[in-house]
Amino acid sequence: MSDCIFCKIAAGEIPSRKVYEDETVLAFYDLDPQAPEHILLIPKTHIASAAEITPQNSGLVAHIFEVAAEIAAQKGFADGFRVVTNCGESAGQSVKHLHFHLLAGRDFTWPPG
Ligand code: 5GP
Ligand code: ZN
Repeated sequence: MSDCIFCKIAAGEIPSRKVYEDETVLAFYDLDPQAPEHILLIPKTHIASAAEITPQNSGLVAHIFEVAAEIAAQKGFADGFRVVTNCGESAGQSVKHLHFHLLAGRDFTWPPG
């Protein structure tokens, strides 16, 4: 998607503070952190949201969760973190490219707002 900001970040056309990268997944720091650790995990291919997850692409999502667990272990917060994806404008999705927020470093309330 030529006008998608996360496709541009995945392609290296917009710089980001990378945490992890392989052929299919990129993790980078959020520009506007909501916790001491706030990392975004995205598939490099364009998937619009969690509503677009299918049997054909769900392996990529599983891989993203493996990467999230690796990052949590490496950064030392495996005992307490939250993974969130906002799907649709009413749920707060502002970038229409599937992404998972990996948040850590503070306590989180439940239920979320
Ligand atoms: P959403 O609101 O869609 O769930 O999450 C989008 C996230 O992307 C927000 O937390 C926002 O701060 C982050 N974001 C938006 N544009 C950029 C950018 O250009 N670079 C980085 N690193 N984060 C971005
Ligand atoms: Zn995209």
